[in-house]
Amino acid sequence: MIYLGSNRIVTQDYASHKYAEDYAGNHGSIIKMYGRGKVIKIVNKFKSHEHSINYNTFLNNQSKWKDGNIYHCTSITGTKVDMNYDELGGNQVYVETYGERGELLTFHFAHLDTVSVKVGDIVDSNTILGTQGNTGLVLSNKSTSDKTYGSHVHFEIRNKDGVAINPRNYANANIVTNYQTQTNQIDKDKKQFKVMVDSINIRNEPNTSSKILGAVYLNEVYTILEEVDSNEYTWYKILTGRNVSGFVASKKNANWVEIMNVNEDIKPDIEVPDEEIKEEEKENIVVKYKLLFTCKKSGMYYLNLNAGEELYIKEK
Ligand SMILES: [Zn+2]
Repeated sequence: MIYLGSNRIVTQDYASHKYAEDYAGNHGSIIKMYGRGKVIKIVNKFKSHEHSINYNTFLNNQSKWKDGNIYHCTSITGTKVDMNYDELGGNQVYVETYGERGELLTFHFAHLDTVSVKVGDIVDSNTILGTQGNTGLVLSNKSTSDKTYGSHVHFEIRNKDGVAINPRNYANANIVTNYQTQTNQIDKDKKQFKVMVDSINIRNEPNTSSKILGAVYLNEVYTILEEVDSNEYTWYKILTGRNVSGFVASKKNANWVEIMNVNEDIKPDIEVPDEEIKEEEKENIVVKYKLLFTCKKSGMYYLNLNAGEELYIKEK
């Protein structure tokens, strides 16, 4: 029922956990998310069981263990382990994604056994983020000799202001019905662009000081609704599958995006570099075009050309 990759049950709900939910599943079972996002941070240095710290023991010794930002902990197996404050969740994956109304969210998965992604990866509901484990601060009724002691998934969601929201809807794909993701649909009749860099912000207005509404990511394709030119950037207005509408910048002479499906009719017939032609020669250039032959039958033709010769074909 609960998504996150396999059948799971809620072991600590949002009301009691306050800022997250914990889900039980099989130790080592795969963890997936619903939707699409980008991995922005990982912690991947701890071993399940060997680096499992009993949560209550930690709380009781927190003041003693605390040494600057490093906690010198003793695991349930007696292993000494140093953890920074943001490593208390053990092996972790943070994913930047979008909510049901296109709002920016950060998904946080903690206590993983293994981490299968790296920072910068674009992930979707087919991606295995990692496997369930018991690294970091965990609590369990099981014996500490049990390798699955405290194994669970801690799933936490924060908005752009860092405020925690109930993750239940995002843990259960059946509940979320209007969570849309970018479809990358190519429409040959429309002018579109493909994102060629890791990410570009979507902005409220076509200028770099306007509000950031989200981002577009590598290889995504969007239809261009409007183009706004400025000194440094060309701005493309888009509507995303996440229902976010705004402007995406492409720095001039940098390949942030690739323009696709440009109508052939608007391409110049013959490109003549203007600067190489003197004003007085411009009038004469038309007569220099030479009709080589009239094509009577469609097909492929071969021509022998000498070095330096230029070929002009008059189109019908
Ligand atoms: Zn938790």
